[in-house]
Amino acid sequence: MPSSNDKTADRRQFLVNGARVAGALGLVGGVGYLAGNAQGREELVWQLDPDKCIACGNCATKCVLDISAVKCVNCFHACGYCNGCTGYFEKVEGGTSQGASTSAENQLCPTGAIERKFIEKRSTSLYFEYTIIEPLCIGCGKCVEGCAKMNGSMYLQVMHNRCLNCNECSIAVACPTQAFRRIPASTPNMMKKIGIHALKAIDKLPPEIYELPEEEEA
Ligand code: SF4
Ligand code: SF4
Ligand code: SF4
Repeated sequence: MPSSNDKTADRRQFLVNGARVAGALGLVGGVGYLAGNAQGREELVWQLDPDKCIACGNCATKCVLDISAVKCVNCFHACGYCNGCTGYFEKVEGGTSQGASTSAENQLCPTGAIERKFIEKRSTSLYFEYTIIEPLCIGCGKCVEGCAKMNGSMYLQVMHNRCLNCNECSIAVACPTQAFRRIPASTPNMMKKIGIHALKAIDKLPPEIYELPEEEEA
């Protein structure tokens, strides 16, 4: 039977492995859009900058697809594995979700797309993993807004295995914060700066993550 030290080590390893982003990020789109010059034409895809997104709801409703190509992901490395996750629970009576039941009426997600799984108990604290069940996610951003009150590890991304790579993305047109941009298909996903910095520090930044040019870094 594993000791509590083993379990802590397991969890530490789990966090290191947290370079994984929950809710598999979509593959590079097939159609593509070519830009650039004669020396180097590069395929570009639509993506949204999670640091600019305010989870306004348009990602769920403005996509040309019946079910949006935008879905939520959870960066495990940035996640606090909180018992009272503010991205999972509706605010319950008394203002805290700690210890609340996981019944549907206590969950923020309208489609039940977030799976909560017990990971470990350390001292008196309980830790849970939150995984997005991608096919159920409609990209409404409710969990993103909730998670922003804590670590902000949940964020929206365009899934390239669904996105049609429209010439003019209708969500980009409707986005109130100009969070959408075209980025190289070779690095088709974005991550919050906080996650990028943390993963770079341990040399675990996935190669498919696009980084903003220095002059655009706030
Ligand atoms: S439209 Fe823009 S601000 Fe609204 S949820 Fe999508 S990316 Fe975020
Ligand atoms: S709350 Fe909305 S964005 Fe978050 S997992 Fe559920 S459907 Fe997806
Ligand atoms: S490019 Fe088209 S399919 Fe892709 S997210 Fe925008 S509207 Fe949806």
